[in-house]
Parts: sequence; C-alpha cells; structure tokens
Amino acid sequence: MSGTERGRRRSKREPRPICPRCGREYSHLETRRVGGREYLYAVHESRAGGRRTREFCYLGPKDGYAAGLAAHSWRGAPWLALSAMGATREEEFRRRLEYLGEIVRAALDAAATEEDLGGILRVLDDARSAIEARLAEARAARRNSP
Ligand SMILES: [Zn+2]
Repeated sequence: MSGTERGRRRSKREPRPICPRCGREYSHLETRRVGGREYLYAVHESRAGGRRTREFCYLGPKDGYAAGLAAHSWRGAPWLALSAMGATREEEFRRRLEYLGEIVRAALDAAATEEDLGGILRVLDDARSAIEARLAEARAARRNSP
C-alpha cells in the first residue's frame, strides 16, 4: 500500500452524515450479510501516518433502517429513536444538546402562524421551568454539602 490515495472531495455545503451510534461523522454505510439477513454499519475512516484505519458502528438490521435514513438529513425523531447512548455521558449530552438546537430551528422553519410560534414558546417555557427547578435543586444541594 502506497498511502497516496486521496479522500474523495466533498461539497463544502454538505457535511458528512453523523453516526447515530457514536455521534461522529462517518464516511459511508456498509451492508453485511449474515445468515441471510442484512445488517447496516457506519464506517469511520481515518488516516494516521499514511495508514488508513476503519472503525465500524453497528446500526441495526437494514430493513428497519430505511425510515431513519430518510430523516437523517435534519436528524428528526427517527434519528433520535435509532440512536444508542453515546459512548460517555458527556458525549451523549453534547449530542442531545446539539439535537435540541436543531429541533428548535426545525420547528421555527415549519411555523407559519402566530399560533404556531406561541406553541413553540409554550414548549420552551415548560422546558425553562424544568431547567430552573433542577438548577435550584443543584444549588441547594451544593449549599447543604459539607
Ligand atoms: Zn459511529
């Protein structure tokens, strides 16, 4: 192996898809056939010192995955439903936080009336109340700890 092969060029506007299992970008999907059934894997390719490494994340049976892929471009509900937990709590949190931002933007994009916008505000107000309650609990617990 010469290691001179260059990665395929991609459009700058089109980010690589995000792996629903580990939250990293993946290069492409691969299907493996085992015992008459097909399973889908996200392939993470990287290069270190001219050496190409490939890591595979198992995504599930191919049949059940088509619907999820359709929503993959904006990471809709199927994206979250298909997602396994991140490798660490921090990773999972970061991914969910990013998802939260995207879903708010997606709701705003779809909102057409004042009523729609009011609906978004109600959901966000509820969320804000829940967050403030958790913050107050955390602060009280910190004050009471030795
Ligand atoms: Zn992955």
